[in-house]
Amino acid sequence: MPTHCTDFAQLRAALDPATLGAAMHALIRELYPFCRSITGDGFRQTLARLDKEVPLEVHEVPSGTNVFDWTVPREWNIRDAYVKNSSGERVIDFQHHNLHVVSYSVPVRRKMSLAELRPHLHTLPDQPELIPYRTSYYKEDWGFCLPHRQLQQMAEDEYEVCIESTLEDGHLTYGECLVKGASAQEVLVSCHACHPSLANDNLSGVAVAAFLARHLAQVPLRNSYRFLFIPGTIGSITWLSLNEERARAIRHGLVLTCIGDRGNFTYKKSRGGNAEIDRAVGHVLEHSGRDYTTVEFSPYGYDERQYCSPGFNLPVGCLMRSHHGQFPEYHTSADNLDFVDPVALADSFAKLLSVFELIEQNRTYINLNPNCEPQLGRRGLYGAMGGTHIRQLEMAMLWVLNLSDGSSSLLDIAERSGLPFDAINDAAAMLLRHDLLAPVQGDEPVASHPR
Ligand code: ZN
Repeated sequence: MPTHCTDFAQLRAALDPATLGAAMHALIRELYPFCRSITGDGFRQTLARLDKEVPLEVHEVPSGTNVFDWTVPREWNIRDAYVKNSSGERVIDFQHHNLHVVSYSVPVRRKMSLAELRPHLHTLPDQPELIPYRTSYYKEDWGFCLPHRQLQQMAEDEYEVCIESTLEDGHLTYGECLVKGASAQEVLVSCHACHPSLANDNLSGVAVAAFLARHLAQVPLRNSYRFLFIPGTIGSITWLSLNEERARAIRHGLVLTCIGDRGNFTYKKSRGGNAEIDRAVGHVLEHSGRDYTTVEFSPYGYDERQYCSPGFNLPVGCLMRSHHGQFPEYHTSADNLDFVDPVALADSFAKLLSVFELIEQNRTYINLNPNCEPQLGRRGLYGAMGGTHIRQLEMAMLWVLNLSDGSSSLLDIAERSGLPFDAINDAAAMLLRHDLLAPVQGDEPVASHPR
């Protein structure tokens, strides 16, 4: 992954949001039909496709491996599944939609009446046209999911029920991509990739993460970025268990999910609630000019639950557009390719790039002329030009000079001044060029991009 751009501004200028959004949507479209689960070939197939976007290290962890209080489950694979009526017609057909089978269903092949079959049929009476998404990972069971409308039309009959699946010792598979920066300090970007044909909950996070990895590799970075494509819950538990020491290097982290729908952003804070990542995301959203929602941490949701468990307590938040579980399409066949929008995907990508840019550029400086204000006019830094942006930049310079006593970062200054981080950062860059500022020791800018 070669470096092509000198900085984020150049990267941003080289990107066309419409092209980017269309490319991410096209990737989702390709991944959508694969029958993923927490283990198995659907997951591997997904990683193989992602590897064409960004080089992935694929890990295979054997079934039965103890990972903290959990055990890596047996591997599940499925070839076919259906319910046939006595005329031989497939009235429920896995080949038509993979949500029709409860994930991790054990193999079944027998004839039964509707009354016998009925406890194994799952529907959504309130959303009668939609197929629900159901799983049975940790309890041996089998079942089918179908629109409630269709269930109502099923007559008493002798049905032939077939689930051609295997549940055997095998592996849990996950993918990892490390984009190296100058330091060993890491930013974690984690997304679950274990849902079958569900677009927003799952594939939107996967696509945006893959594109971020590809593009971050093109700019010089201070932090290293670790991208994880894992099965939900058991995947993060497994990764943390196998990488307990490495996890301690994580300075900032985000779980990405439900990031492709047309709703406004929702940010769920890390357990600490005031980590730099919480403040960086909050700042970017606050200055985006769009409504957004911030929610406090709770021990429910996606993999942030594991990263924020007390033994790790990592600064990991969760970025979403619509909040999982709170939109009607969630975990149904309506979370489809039309529900995710190229414009929203590109917007999510851009916001995340801004968050990482902020983290890369957030430094602490010392004012080298702290006894009263330096004379900025004499240096051509003050009142040289009119216009709002220049006035904002002048204000930003005054704030940076005043608060740069070695204890306030640029983000601290942006928050306290109410000015956008970009203005504060631009002001610091100008003051630096005029020898009015110096970075505190250990916080020097990245000069080159060692690999
Ligand atoms: Zn989900």
